[in-house]
Amino acid sequence: MKVYLDGKFVDSAEAKVSVFDHGLLYGDGVFEGIRLYDGNIFRLEEHLERLENSAKAIMLQMPLSRAELSWATCETCRQNGLRDAYIRLVITRGVGDLGLAPWLCPKPSIFIIAGKISLYPQEYYDNGLGIVTVPTRRIGPAALPSTVKSLNYLNNILGKIEAKQFGALEAIMLNDQGYVAECTADNIFVVHKGELLTPAASQGALKGITRSTIIDIAQATGIPLREVDLTRYDIWCADECFLTGSGAEVIPVVKLDGRVIGTGKPGPITQRVLADFRARVKLEGTRI
Ligand code: PMP
Repeated sequence: MKVYLDGKFVDSAEAKVSVFDHGLLYGDGVFEGIRLYDGNIFRLEEHLERLENSAKAIMLQMPLSRAELSWATCETCRQNGLRDAYIRLVITRGVGDLGLAPWLCPKPSIFIIAGKISLYPQEYYDNGLGIVTVPTRRIGPAALPSTVKSLNYLNNILGKIEAKQFGALEAIMLNDQGYVAECTADNIFVVHKGELLTPAASQGALKGITRSTIIDIAQATGIPLREVDLTRYDIWCADECFLTGSGAEVIPVVKLDGRVIGTGKPGPITQRVLADFRARVKLEGTRI
């Protein structure tokens, strides 16, 4: 496998960053998880825009222009002869000293890995996931905006560990006020009386690219959609529920905290949205 690393394509065994990189020492950096579908990168421009905004928020100087980033991302897929892949684009603060000071890191590091996709097993797309609410709360936007896709994922990792302890593959994380923020690596939607509801980013959610695709699908197909404050009760008592993410795509949820959601099977709106999403990934995208 060839990895793009600071302007060069190197073998994966040679793709190394320094132990003094602040991405490693402090989680100081930003990243994107992107999908390549049949030779098309899905919503690449949106991913690069979010990456630029994440970098701006943490005052990290982007090492490449939008056009250069776009080329490097496509070229990483080409170099590996890929048609379908999961792409990880990472920008770290770069090498510094042992203190926090980012201004002592003169040069950000950038790497792009394009590899195999690890989706949830197919049975969960057919029958739905059972998930849980975990005790670890989502870091509030006042501490770290959830809209910044930073290398600091420890909060989500704690949630993921707790999910596993409860025997679930994914978990809902609440914010400090007890409202639903999102899942450890996915956004969440529910269907309530024919309407799609999802938490606003201000509740502690990442503005997912898949989430924004679902918003577009809802608009195009006339399904009403609102950003609202959701409690666990709203999900237990919803008609349908699904999660969205570049890795997960659209995955139905049929149980939360031991409560069966709706009929206990993926519902009609979820199936419609999933079908529309799968159709869109074939049509939209940047040809590599
Ligand atoms: N929330 C979190 C915390 C995430 O890490 C992700 C990405 N896996 C998402 C939501 C979904 O975002 P996207 O649709 O852009 O992949």
